[in-house]
Amino acid sequence: SFITKVILVTGGNKGIGYAIVRNLALSYANLSSSQPLTILLTARNPTLGQNSTDQLHEELKPKNILTDDGGNIDLKFLRLDITDEQSIKDAKMVIEKDYGEEYLKNLYKLSAVLASIFRLIHITFKGDAFDVNVVRKTFATNFYGTLNLINHFYPLIRPNGRIVNVSSSVGHIVSKALGQEFSKEDLDMDGLIELMKRFEVAVEKDTYKQEGWPRQAYAVSKLGLMTMTKILARRADKEGNNIKVFSCSPGWVKTDMNGERAPLTPDQGAKIPVLLALDENIVIQNPNGSF
Ligand code: NDP
Repeated sequence: SFITKVILVTGGNKGIGYAIVRNLALSYANLSSSQPLTILLTARNPTLGQNSTDQLHEELKPKNILTDDGGNIDLKFLRLDITDEQSIKDAKMVIEKDYGEEYLKNLYKLSAVLASIFRLIHITFKGDAFDVNVVRKTFATNFYGTLNLINHFYPLIRPNGRIVNVSSSVGHIVSKALGQEFSKEDLDMDGLIELMKRFEVAVEKDTYKQEGWPRQAYAVSKLGLMTMTKILARRADKEGNNIKVFSCSPGWVKTDMNGERAPLTPDQGAKIPVLLALDENIVIQNPNGSF
């Protein structure tokens, strides 16, 4: 009997997330593996998510790679809003029900959670849009939402599974002193949450500049995401279960978030996340798991 791999993509209805789902299917079909793969395209809006899933079914039909057309890739929609605890629990229940019991019979396994994490539409670079509420909203999705999602799903990830966080290169912009705090080898999740709260307080008190923070909630949320990745990667290393945790930047990509100025297409932006999800021989250049 074959073991089914399950890959879950968040924010899959559009932009880079959608391109990740599409390219996962195309790349996996190219590997010509006989092992069945289930790709869960998830989105917070069920109509948008189902429409995008249908659209991909339509596009991929002639290629005969999906299960409906004789292939071994099952592409399905699942609702998931990462800022909504109940939605995370519901999605987890569906996965446990559909794959968990079967896994116990050793037929299926959930082997990778791929998180294409989001940015809020708020453009935080502009002065007038920067205040503590923007920070809270941005963190709720990009940082706390992701952390909560991973905490709930981690127990479902089997040995050799992977987590891929889509971060951004803007995540590096803090003072040297702060950078050192984020980079501490013994920083744990509670320590990281304290650092994230410190930014929130500094913005509230308007002392963030003196303290070495940027005027960008988005950048700090992505720094938090990269640091979260390192902490999780260290934890997985210690557990010795061969779970790999990555974060990467997709490059500057044309999406609704960015508009038309960006040079890359969503398919190009999906390249590294898909590689990190599928390549069995990935070489980790940075021991902290960050690309
Ligand atoms: P888009 O705006 O095109 O897509 C964002 C996606 O995130 C949408 O599917 C959106 O759903 C979803 N989303 C937002 N909030 C939630 C939530 N609470 N739960 C679940 N899904 C949610 O942006 P991009 O494709 O450009 O961005 C994708 C990722 O790539 C982000 O993490 C972004 O930070 C990162 N990135 C992008 C870059 C670029 O140049 N585009 C550069 C560097 C990083 P909905 O449609 O319902 O709003």
